[in-house]
Amino acid sequence: MIRQFELVERVAGYDERADENLLNRAYVFSMKAHGSQMRASGDPYFSHPVEVAGILTDYKLDCATIVTALLHDTVEDTLATIDQIGELFGEEISRLVDGVTKLSKLEMRSEASEQAENFRKLVLAMSDDIRVLLVKLADRLHNMRTLHFLKNAEKRARIAAETMEIYAPLAERLGMQRIKQELEDLAFRELNPEARESVIRRVAFLHEDGDDLSRRIGEELHRIIAEAGIPSRVSGREKTPYSIWHKMEREDISFEQLSDTLAFRIVVDSVPDCYQVLGAVHGTYPMVPGRFKDYISTPKRNNYQSIHTTVIGPENRRIEVQIRTKMMHQVAEMGVAAHWQYKQDMDATDGSRYRWLQELVEILENAQSPQEFLEHTKLEMFPERVFCFTPRGGVIALPRGASAVDFAYALHTDIGNTCVGAKVNGRVVPLRTELRNGDQVEVLRSKQPAPDAGWETFVVTGKARSAIRRFIRAQQRQEYRKLGRAIAEKAFRETGHEFSDQAVETVLKIHDARSAEDIYVQLGQGHLTSRQLLDTVFPGERRWRARNPFGAINRMIPARLRLGAGDKSDGHSVPIRGLRPGLAVHYADCCHALPGDRIVGIVHKGKGVDIHTIDCERLADLPEGRDDWLDVTWDIDPDAPGVYVGQIKAVMSNEPGSLSSLSSVIAKSMGNISNLKITDRSADFFEMQVDIEVTDLTHLSNIIAALRATPRMSKVERVRG
Ligand code: MN
Repeated sequence: MIRQFELVERVAGYDERADENLLNRAYVFSMKAHGSQMRASGDPYFSHPVEVAGILTDYKLDCATIVTALLHDTVEDTLATIDQIGELFGEEISRLVDGVTKLSKLEMRSEASEQAENFRKLVLAMSDDIRVLLVKLADRLHNMRTLHFLKNAEKRARIAAETMEIYAPLAERLGMQRIKQELEDLAFRELNPEARESVIRRVAFLHEDGDDLSRRIGEELHRIIAEAGIPSRVSGREKTPYSIWHKMEREDISFEQLSDTLAFRIVVDSVPDCYQVLGAVHGTYPMVPGRFKDYISTPKRNNYQSIHTTVIGPENRRIEVQIRTKMMHQVAEMGVAAHWQYKQDMDATDGSRYRWLQELVEILENAQSPQEFLEHTKLEMFPERVFCFTPRGGVIALPRGASAVDFAYALHTDIGNTCVGAKVNGRVVPLRTELRNGDQVEVLRSKQPAPDAGWETFVVTGKARSAIRRFIRAQQRQEYRKLGRAIAEKAFRETGHEFSDQAVETVLKIHDARSAEDIYVQLGQGHLTSRQLLDTVFPGERRWRARNPFGAINRMIPARLRLGAGDKSDGHSVPIRGLRPGLAVHYADCCHALPGDRIVGIVHKGKGVDIHTIDCERLADLPEGRDDWLDVTWDIDPDAPGVYVGQIKAVMSNEPGSLSSLSSVIAKSMGNISNLKITDRSADFFEMQVDIEVTDLTHLSNIIAALRATPRMSKVERVRG
């Protein structure tokens, strides 16, 4: 623990106007207030505010910030009141302490549904003064450093997740790279210790002689730059296990490629020196294409500046190099905190250099709405998502472009199906309205489900599109069923038979139906004629026999015949867009999605992603969940189409030549039969399921059309679900 006089000396060391008396009083007040309180680590509680103050002295923050750090937990955790702080330390300090106290209260709410309110409070507190946030970040950093002392695993996980999601991105937004990295890595250690351990082990394995190698290469780099006459400081750069892991995840780079790369930083005096160093480095070593970035001429949004490049350096090792000036280095490490450090230097003539700081402070100070706050902090991590709130404050993540209908289906399929209107931020809006970050959405519902087929034109989530299609299809089916039953009834009557569902049910198998309803649907759709139906129900009848050369339906002879097993080879590049790297892809066997089909991905934790067609029946059986649906699209290279298995069902007459005409038609259409199975056989017909290798949906449709035009084929259709 830092001692009282050390802390005061540190502050006085960089701020000659520091009020030492104030610092001393705050130190003593906090120590007395926390009294005998203990941390989970067994240390006296008071060590915590002192450490937090210590972290902030590294950033050379002003005296008021350090005093606030010392007092930051007194109102929350001791008998001290904010009025007392005001009386003893003045209005500015009490305002800052109050801000930090408000932020700390947010932590105690654990439920996700409180997020909206949390964000709002967070913003209000922040917009008071950015120093509140800096104290909060230091507070969180020290708490993360001592997180492992907490016994409650659930609490540890919650704090780590919150750190990863809210505080690390905030630190990044403020340009405080060092804090951000440490927060992330500490959270990573809690959230995924196995992954972190394996990264560390692999790094250690690959860099067995790393220290020495790194030193030799660093010296070599320094020599080359010195020969060009530029004074510089070259240092090796440690990557955190989290940053290695995250980069692997994000950029799909192999572990070897990433961790085998040594990283160096070259700090020089001026911008022209940066480019001279770049020239010297590129002039000596071949650069790796695609890795060069000039953030000096085009700074990042948080005003980070540096030149990045990767070269094949000394000893044939890939080395990553960052080149920057001292000032840029300071800003990169300290971010917004540099504001206070350089505050005195700021004047009108040189204001431009610090304009970004001004802008940043303004953004934070003016962020009054949760939308804005989300825009500037958490959302930085998810540029392709929008976050909307339920009336109760739950947060729903949707793809950009999503509408209220997508929102409704994301909540629950039933809510989507019964959705008739929506209120966004309290006002009724058209359902197709594109949602924006921070919108609060209330779904207006009817009693009866009645999704509109027109919704399909504007919904963007697979879940919504799939549910709408299924509903519309079920509705159409009802219509066909009614129509088909009327047709059957009429046909029976006209041929002098008494109509009954039971009579129709005797021929289910022949017509590949599970119920009489299925047969009515076939009739209604025109896939089956009333004459064909009567032929099978009353096979003995002469006048029908004349039209049916195959006579009575005899004993069913079930047969299964396999002609080799179809196998899909897993290509290296997955032709599907919208997947996270590293997810295993599997084309679901129920619907056999083909390029050209609209598709959706269902994530199975630990198993990868199943690709289904959007109207696959199987999707309706999935339990309601929010996160397991992935909106994916095909990403086929037209020059290198793959091979996919489409499945069809063919019913053909049982006579010589049927099978050979089937196979020759498929072959002529450039399809390849990969599997064939006879699923039903009678004296007259047999039915088979055929797996055909095709390039895409159009290809399969062409084959189906060709088969339908072939004699002896009575029915050909694609198998779905
Ligand atoms: Mn604290």
